[in-house]
Amino acid sequence: MASARKTTKVIIVGGGGTLGSSTALHLIRRGYTPSNITILDTYPIPSSQSAGHDLNKIMSIRLRTKADLQLSLEALDMWKHDPLFKPFFHNVGMFDCSSEAENITELREYYQALIDANAGLDKTNFWLDSEDEILSKLPCFTREQVKGWKGLFTLDGGWLAAAKAINAIGLFAKGQGVQFKFGDAGTFKKPLFAENEVTCYGVETVDGSRYFADKVIMAAGAWTPTLIDLEDQCVSKAWVLAHIQLTPEEAAAYKNTPVVYDGSYGFFFEPNEDGIIKVCDEFPGFTHFKTHQPYGADEPKCISVPRSHASHPTDTYPDASEVSIRKAVARFLPGLKDRPFINRAMCWCTDTADSNLLICEHPKWKNLILATGDSGHSFKMLPNIGKHIVELMEGTLQQDLLNYWKWRPGGDALKSTRAAPAKDLADRPGWKHDARL
Ligand code: FAD
Repeated sequence: MASARKTTKVIIVGGGGTLGSSTALHLIRRGYTPSNITILDTYPIPSSQSAGHDLNKIMSIRLRTKADLQLSLEALDMWKHDPLFKPFFHNVGMFDCSSEAENITELREYYQALIDANAGLDKTNFWLDSEDEILSKLPCFTREQVKGWKGLFTLDGGWLAAAKAINAIGLFAKGQGVQFKFGDAGTFKKPLFAENEVTCYGVETVDGSRYFADKVIMAAGAWTPTLIDLEDQCVSKAWVLAHIQLTPEEAAAYKNTPVVYDGSYGFFFEPNEDGIIKVCDEFPGFTHFKTHQPYGADEPKCISVPRSHASHPTDTYPDASEVSIRKAVARFLPGLKDRPFINRAMCWCTDTADSNLLICEHPKWKNLILATGDSGHSFKMLPNIGKHIVELMEGTLQQDLLNYWKWRPGGDALKSTRAAPAKDLADRPGWKHDARL
């Protein structure tokens, strides 16, 4: 295996994003020759259209499946201890809360499940039941504000300086001699096949360049289902965010505030070093259905096609998003409720029906490996997901992950495991957009 690693050539489509950059990192760490690794992306790493190109993302432990627990514990360890990732983890804690009886019951069950997982999480997770307990963790909140709130406080949580962490991988990869192609020269057009039409041996990009490799990893995030026919296993959706600029004095008051998340409203992060607070609402996402023919589909089909802020900078978000983000600001940051937003953006992910990733070799095409289906929760795995993608490529991935991540048409990726199916942007009042596809 060691000698194969030295000579195996790998192309990563979407290598400027989350799963793709992590894969490049782990190929290098496993002994692959860096100059045999080619990162293709439309934008330079950290790709400005990656879902990970963001001020911050939440780090928390997921418990939905055994695999989620294993992957989040691995990731937590790397965010805390790996020298490449450590600088980007702001381990300020996270408060997952509600004031609605039904949600409080669910949160309480979730808390109990964390304790019962026997993974030492009883030392880092606490149930906050009273206003006093909550105010001790959130001193910048008022007693009036947290009336009736209860929830789970975790010391394992916090935020990740997302784009900066991908950038660090990019700098490391460049320093090691990884090949990069961006713009039209890095934008995937179609896979290339040997004469048998079954063995993938490279990629053609939009400018007509051809790149050859032993393995091609398709890690193009929300764009993957538009590039390769995934038989409706993934539906790409946008979520929205807005920023508020604070004065240095205001920012100081919120310093070290844990991430506060309320599933009925959204979440916010402490200000970054420039005094910028990010606020998101929580909803089932927006689709953008068009008639489009991904490679491998017999004919054009109705498919949700992402429109990144990077490619469409004048696109707005729907009026309803402004209302719901303002509602989240009023709940979490009442003193800032009338403050203008300095940046509003949509960010694209791709959901599977069961919220598990789709990481497998394409069932028809040998050596073409899919690494997608992030389902809106995969940034936290930036440090470790690439390790498992490389294991899949080498045929050593553990059996339960193979099962969770296998090719599995069927199910409803439009709704996925969310409260409701996503609504289409075209039907949303207030969504202004340029005419380009
Ligand atoms: P991406 O990171 O988007 O990478 C895809 C890459 O493919 C991009 O670099 C893109 O430029 C490239 N590409 C596209 N088309 C082509 C082409 N034709 N040729 C070549 N390259 C191409 N996760 C968390 O863990 N915690 C959070 O708090 C969190 N919050 C989120 C908040 C919002 C608003 C959103 C939208 C997502 C959030 N997520 C969070 C989810 C997380 O960001 C994603 O799960 C993760 O970043 C997806 O990674 P990916 O590699 O699949 O896609």
